[in-house]
Amino acid sequence: MAHQLPDLPYDYSALEPTIDAQTMKLHHDMHHGAYVKNLNAALEKYPNLQSKSAEDLIRDLNAIPEDIRGAVRNNGGGHVNHTMFWKIMKPKGGGDPSGAISEVINKTFGNFKDFQTKFNEAGVKQFGSGWVWLAGKPGGEVQIISTPNQDSPISQGLFPIFGNDVWEHAYYLKYNNRRPEYLAAWWNVVNWDEINQRLKAFQSHPEPALAGR
Ligand code: MN
Repeated sequence: MAHQLPDLPYDYSALEPTIDAQTMKLHHDMHHGAYVKNLNAALEKYPNLQSKSAEDLIRDLNAIPEDIRGAVRNNGGGHVNHTMFWKIMKPKGGGDPSGAISEVINKTFGNFKDFQTKFNEAGVKQFGSGWVWLAGKPGGEVQIISTPNQDSPISQGLFPIFGNDVWEHAYYLKYNNRRPEYLAAWWNVVNWDEINQRLKAFQSHPEPALAGR
């Protein structure tokens, strides 16, 4: 199999009470598991694409054969997005950001609270399923964006510094239809150390559209 479901870096219950164990189990094993399975199935008839990373596959979707382009966009995106998502959360996470990410947030948005408000608003406004992101732009600036479905900022030439999953499968068991409540609570499990690592990767190659080609 070209692509594999990564293990969760903590127990299913580790993010309680912010995210319940049942949601984590279904989200990781079934939803992320399905993206990996469907991505591998789509690549079956294209052995030359099987050695490419999922990031490289979605970096230039026009280069993907048309008959599997939609499947790669959805399932490759789903695989990349969720692989990031598990790592940018941790038990006893949250608190104020520190280090370089704190500087970038303050410089771009004024302060952490205003940034959180804007990020949460973008997540609330994303109609239907999707993600809300802090994304790096070519040149080094950052911006808040949202994407539908499993679309990744990578496919737009942007770098996903971190993002939150606003699909109902991410929160519905505990928060029901109350997406704003989930978005507000989610900051309690954010892993700023990992986000700083991702920011560092972006800042060392602030032209993600070209990186890796
Ligand atoms: Mn998800």
